[in-house]
Amino acid sequence: MMERERFFEARASMLPAGAGDFGEEAHVIFQIEDRTRDKASLQARTDFVANASHELRTPLASILGYIETLQGHAKEDPEARELFLGIMMKQASRMQRLVDDLMSLSRIEMNAHVRPEERLDLHAVAAEAANALFPLATQNDVLLQVEISTDEPGPTVLGDRDQLNQVLVNLVDNAIKYGGQGQKVRVRPADPSSKYPGQAGISVIDTGPGIARENVHRLTERFFRVNAGQSRDKGGTGLGLAITKHILNRHSGALGIESQPGHGSTFTLWLPVANEADSDGNVGKIAN
Ligand code: ADP
Repeated sequence: MMERERFFEARASMLPAGAGDFGEEAHVIFQIEDRTRDKASLQARTDFVANASHELRTPLASILGYIETLQGHAKEDPEARELFLGIMMKQASRMQRLVDDLMSLSRIEMNAHVRPEERLDLHAVAAEAANALFPLATQNDVLLQVEISTDEPGPTVLGDRDQLNQVLVNLVDNAIKYGGQGQKVRVRPADPSSKYPGQAGISVIDTGPGIARENVHRLTERFFRVNAGQSRDKGGTGLGLAITKHILNRHSGALGIESQPGHGSTFTLWLPVANEADSDGNVGKIAN
């Protein structure tokens, strides 16, 4: 009530003398809602900074600890020195990945309102991104199958090539990382869906452990992980799917997630198919 009065006063002082009660009341309600939204976004920002600081502080503390040990009794022990330098390298790489992801996120947010305009063949972009991950799949003993034909033109989308590449890499990388050894990962065009009319999709399907229902809707939150220890061990930052969501939002697309615990997950990126009228002036392929 106190707050409500304060807002009312602030607004009333800006109104011409004699303004009616109803008009003032309407403004008051609007301003209270606005402030509530501000509070939520302030809280989200505070949480984000706290999480990011925590994620950076942990490897930093570890590196500082090992430097101290190296300056002390481990100085003359070549074996310990090798071991500690290896750990420090791993922790520094973790910090580097995190800083890279934080910068990606902030770049994407900064350009969120700029519509990507390059005419791209979705199948060609997806195949190129997925094909680049064969070495990672082999390393993880995962069978990667890229079932996208690039002999025929695929659907045309208006996009940012690097960002769409990043989305595909994130999804395939996760499927390989979390799918588990001996599993299969397929990348293929999605069947058209009535849920996403006028959009073309690429699905990344894994036969891994799947994700519990209550966690699925939280996957794109920044720093949300089903198992934080496992994610860190696998080099995850907890930002991959948040970045993916932001990129797809910027493209007026969507991320579909279906998962069956014990059987696997399907992540599908959806993007509006461009038509001739969407042309940016470049001569490109026309959507099917
Ligand atoms: P991370 O850097 O931890 O991989 P992401 O934002 O990419 O962060 O993913 C968030 C979390 O979602 C992961 O930590 C993991 O728990 C879960 N996850 C993502 N993809 C899969 C998948 N294909 N199978 C099972 N779990 C997954």
